[in-house]
Amino acid sequence: LDVDDGPSAFIAFDRKARKEHKCYECGRVIQRGEKYRNESGIWDGDPRRYKTCSECLSIREVFFCGGYIYGEVISTLKETFAEAGTVSSDMLADLTHAARDKVFAMLDSAWLDEEAA
Ligand SMILES: [Zn+2]
Repeated sequence: LDVDDGPSAFIAFDRKARKEHKCYECGRVIQRGEKYRNESGIWDGDPRRYKTCSECLSIREVFFCGGYIYGEVISTLKETFAEAGTVSSDMLADLTHAARDKVFAMLDSAWLDEEAA
């Protein structure tokens, strides 16, 4: 999938969940009443819809302003952490509190993987 290949139609809006949804990035359940991002578009004639939880959205906005692939934000970030071994504190400061917790958990597991290797 080419990141530069934009959708031919696209709409994004923030919404309050009226039922449970699954985050396309981290796979966690978005609970009723929680805010999430709903993005619909047509990619190569293929209509798709992506739901992203608020933490992943914050992570995406801070770490992936240059572009991202749906469903690969978390795995890409983990790879980046594993390679770099660290993360810019300026970027951490821009995250929401919940997103920062998520990133710290990822950093922890990246370091653990490193030690186990
Ligand atoms: Zn998520």
